[in-house]
Amino acid sequence: MHRLIDVHAHLYPPNFAGAELSAVLERARAVGVRGIVTVPEMVEECEEVLCWPNLGLHPVQKEIISGSAVRNDVARLQDQIAGVATTRERAARLSDVPPAVEFIQKHKEKLIAVGEVRLDFTPHVIHPGHTASQVWELKKDYAKKETVEAREFEVKEEQKEVFRRVVRCAMDADLPVNCHSRSAGKYTIEILGEELNVPPHRAILHAFDGSNALATVSLGYFLSVPPSVVRSPQNQTLNEPSEIMISLEEVVKRKGVAKEEVEVMMLENTGKVFRDLDTKWLARTNS
Ligand SMILES: [Zn+2]
Repeated sequence: MHRLIDVHAHLYPPNFAGAELSAVLERARAVGVRGIVTVPEMVEECEEVLCWPNLGLHPVQKEIISGSAVRNDVARLQDQIAGVATTRERAARLSDVPPAVEFIQKHKEKLIAVGEVRLDFTPHVIHPGHTASQVWELKKDYAKKETVEAREFEVKEEQKEVFRRVVRCAMDADLPVNCHSRSAGKYTIEILGEELNVPPHRAILHAFDGSNALATVSLGYFLSVPPSVVRSPQNQTLNEPSEIMISLEEVVKRKGVAKEEVEVMMLENTGKVFRDLDTKWLARTNS
């Protein structure tokens, strides 16, 4: 029987809930997944999945959008019925840090890592409400270009500082970081290198590719490979823990090593990052 641990899974509503979540866990168990590290994105999700062991501050937060600053429930409901979006994604701000850090500190004994933490420099996060092509159009207009770029710089710098502070919080709590980045791999590695200054470097970087992936390995970090690695960008679906075998087989194919060898190595590396995995999991199971 396999002994696999999925170190980066987004298992919470609305993607997975209720009966669907039970089915996902059952499928994972059936292929030999023995542990799942979940990485919530919002503080509210942290509260919902406290029984699982990662908490962090994601670079993308949701905010309510409407004509007035605050919409009451009836107005939001009317918007929903009318099919009008009442929330949108925005970049994390410094004001999001204190509640997240407080939450992590309060529950650090139950955690095995701080995550998901990351930078996200995709255009719709940096410029909420705009698509990449709309941002491109705005920049072509010389009258607006300077303002747009100045705003972009400001949002990215704030996001970097948020990331830095959450990584420091992980270090203070003696926890590893579970990191997933979008369009900002270079800066993510740079900041981790500056903040994770106590060897061994305890970081898992999820879905990194190209030269950024090579750089992370030479710095002593670990990479987690999502099953989406075998899918084309146009053909992406939700990943789930039972698909860990797809990742494993892809590593076997690309590295030309025996499956059993990769499996043992995966488990060993997981143990290196999450040093107290067994103790904390056992403590939780017994309580
Ligand atoms: Zn993720």
